Amino acid sequence: MKRRKLLSEVQTAAKDSLMSETLTMKKAPIAIFLGFLAASFISFQSKQKPLSDAVSVIVIDAGHGGKDPGCNGAGEVFEKQVTLGVALRLGKLIQDSLKDVKVLYTRKTDEFIELYKRPELANKNNADLFISIHCNSNKNTTAAGSETYLMGLHKTEGNLSVAKRENAAITMETNYQSNASYGGFEPESPEGHIIFTLVQNAYMEASSGFASKVEHHIALTGKIKSRGVKQAGFLVLWRTAMPSVLVEIGFLTNPADRAVLKTPDGQKQMANALFKAVREYKKERESRLPKTNPVNAPKAINRDSLTRPNNPVRP
Ligand SMILES: [Zn+2]
Repeated sequence: MKRRKLLSEVQTAAKDSLMSETLTMKKAPIAIFLGFLAASFISFQSKQKPLSDAVSVIVIDAGHGGKDPGCNGAGEVFEKQVTLGVALRLGKLIQDSLKDVKVLYTRKTDEFIELYKRPELANKNNADLFISIHCNSNKNTTAAGSETYLMGLHKTEGNLSVAKRENAAITMETNYQSNASYGGFEPESPEGHIIFTLVQNAYMEASSGFASKVEHHIALTGKIKSRGVKQAGFLVLWRTAMPSVLVEIGFLTNPADRAVLKTPDGQKQMANALFKAVREYKKERESRLPKTNPVNAPKAINRDSLTRPNNPVRP
């Protein structure tokens, strides 16, 4: 009964939202997608874990890769190269400075990774933070700056078009239309981008807090300006069961941003900004941990060892 009520609430919310949009598609595929989405939302919700204050596992997702180059930086550089360069540098900074953190990468080389496998890696490893790194693109070459996104309903057409471009990566996957992980999502459908953002994300506040830090530290580099924290429906964030953001670290179509992002030094600066955001976020979250941290608590006596004369308890 509860499930049915939830399902009907999700459907009603989605339909209400759709009413305000101009519908150009046939209704049947939308209804199918809605039904699938609601069902998969319910089963996914039950898998969500409570937000942990410890930040021990971080997944770094370098956008695109392999046959998917991402956006084109005027033939000088491709998005997939920049995202990998920043991702690897960020991972190394974390590993060198935050020894208690385990870093996992969705890719460490120039390879094609299906979109659904990226959040899947984070979920399987119980990650505490998911950072997807991308570069922006616009026909207007004066558009410049970074934007950090969390999952949510877009407020402007501009934000929607960023999500549409990034989500279109799935069209490079074979059989994406029959892949249950995408729930019948069609990258060309504006409705698809709206519907799945209506699912309430339990990690919204933490994601937003981290996103603000990312934008703050990118602005502090003085190399790329901040365009702020935004929301849109990104498939790669959809099913992450932890705080997660997608950061567009600058526009490859803007000559000044591109000049920064294509160089190893510029990538280092962006990685450093992301690292500072991670360090600050981790410190802030972990300050909430109880003082009697289980890690520091005395170990329980191994009663089994006490009963064995040949296995004395060492101090
Ligand atoms: Zn991208």
